[in-house]
Amino acid sequence: MAAVLDGVLSVFRSYQRELVCARCGSVVAWVQLRPFRQPEVRHISGPDVIPMGESLARAVAQTRLSTAQDTGRDPLFAGDPELDGAIERTRHELEYLNGQGGEPVYELLCTGCGSQHLRSMPHLSWMVRRAPTGRVPLR
Ligand SMILES: [Zn+2]
Repeated sequence: MAAVLDGVLSVFRSYQRELVCARCGSVVAWVQLRPFRQPEVRHISGPDVIPMGESLARAVAQTRLSTAQDTGRDPLFAGDPELDGAIERTRHELEYLNGQGGEPVYELLCTGCGSQHLRSMPHLSWMVRRAPTGRVPLR
């Protein structure tokens, strides 16, 4: 019962957390949650990260995927492991978007390793509220 109440009350708390790349350990961004406001996300390089509408995010991922697939058809790049990795990651992004019910998403680029982390607003809030420490891993 206390855990349920705690979960409900966590919505009214403020949080400031670091979002950390799970691949390389670099801090990617800071996030601030306050009651009744949209999350504020600031990238490590300075600017606020503005969430993208789901349809735009989908179009971007779709374009990346078809560009990578076209490039893969070029004999010069066919079988390039980096390209295969990019195709795989973009497919995961599209799958992720399919599971987020049309919510806006933040695209968080890790400056340490170049990983792209896509997180919907509700997913990000959920992760931050449940993180046991001030460092929230982006997996
Ligand atoms: Zn990284």
